[in-house]
Amino acid sequence: MIVDVTTMKDARTSFDFSIEAAQIDLESETERVVNAVRVQGQIKKGIVQTDVEGRISTDVEVECSRCLQPNGKSLDFPFSAAFVTAENYTREREAEVNIENLEVSIYAGDKIDLTELVREQILLNLPEQVFCREDCRGFCQKCGANRNLIDCSCEEKEIDPRWAALKNLK
Ligand SMILES: [Zn+2]
Ligand SMILES: [Zn+2]
Repeated sequence: MIVDVTTMKDARTSFDFSIEAAQIDLESETERVVNAVRVQGQIKKGIVQTDVEGRISTDVEVECSRCLQPNGKSLDFPFSAAFVTAENYTREREAEVNIENLEVSIYAGDKIDLTELVREQILLNLPEQVFCREDCRGFCQKCGANRNLIDCSCEEKEIDPRWAALKNLK
């Protein structure tokens, strides 16, 4: 989805569209988009910068941080981004005028790639740690067995000293 800012008739334009999951490549082996991505919002064309803001919702699959099993997660978050043309960016810099929002992206020509924006926003909003369940036991550090599936007989690293004391009583 590419928006040509020069052809925008109004200063504000609303959008509501979907991007196929296959079009959003997170370039990650542990995270992927599994459902169409809905993007709603508006573009505000200003004299110097163009603002894009709205909401993104989709479903992703993220590996459990402990056992690597894929987990489904729904994402639904607001976003905002600002764009300036390379020309405006240089001009503002040379004039030493502060661009209102310093976290601006520079776009070449007059086109903003919304698909790329959506991809970046999804990456920013992925959960940092995901567990398939709260008490996921992950892999045994000794034998590598998935301890959710197998009770390997490796000793626990540390035995709680209170239990160790009970053991000695026997
Ligand atoms: Zn897990
Ligand atoms: Zn083990």
